[in-house]
Amino acid sequence: MRKNIVAGNWKMNKTLQEGIALAKELNEALVADKPNCDVVICTPFIHLASVSPIVDASVIGVGAENCADKASGAYTGEVSAAMVASTGAQYVILGHSERREYYGETVETLKAKVELALENKLLPIFCIGEVLAEREANKQNEVVAAQLASVFDLSAEDFGKIVLAYEPVWAIGTGKTATAEQAQEIHAYIRSLVADKYGKEVADNTSILYGGSCKPSNAKELFANPDVDGGLIGGAALSVADFKGIIDAFKA
Ligand code: PEP
Repeated sequence: MRKNIVAGNWKMNKTLQEGIALAKELNEALVADKPNCDVVICTPFIHLASVSPIVDASVIGVGAENCADKASGAYTGEVSAAMVASTGAQYVILGHSERREYYGETVETLKAKVELALENKLLPIFCIGEVLAEREANKQNEVVAAQLASVFDLSAEDFGKIVLAYEPVWAIGTGKTATAEQAQEIHAYIRSLVADKYGKEVADNTSILYGGSCKPSNAKELFANPDVDGGLIGGAALSVADFKGIIDAFKA
């Protein structure tokens, strides 16, 4: 069966020392009060090698927020999937809307990143989602279908390793959350696309996370939906109280 996952995306926040302190505090809180879901923290590259060994791997997974679309070589400033994996990280966020919008990530670069991540045994958290104008024009289904199609070249076995994150761009960092009904509707649609391509078993086993202003006050209602398997959390992942509040949404 698919996993429930709460993944934090720290984005470009926290110095190394602050990040280590945050990871330690979260680790202590979750070791003392074990989560009922998988928990992942995706940190800036420079934190990975320090954060990986200080968290209890049975409770917290670690991931990067991006990786290069090339395996190695003369690509100044880039960090490869192999380098990410060598820190002990197990996950990598790919296709976040901020990467697509500000750094020009395309279908082609994302395909290469996903393949390199999988070759290096990293589990991609692949983000899809529409912008406000697309939602207002009722084009959200078309948009997510096109974004998802970019990973439909993968074999069923490889696709089965991917975690999907539906993140309506209009809800990211804005305080506007999709309603539980909006989230369920599009998550069910995304799962139906996976079923059409790879069959029901793969679709049933795919975790689809919701991301966009998720907080302790709305997490329970969002995660209660049958096709919402957890969350990708930005701002609220920077506070242990808030992040744990979201994780605890999976508790009775
Ligand atoms: C994100 O950036 O993935 C995200 C969901 O951000 P926030 O929770 O801050 O809206």
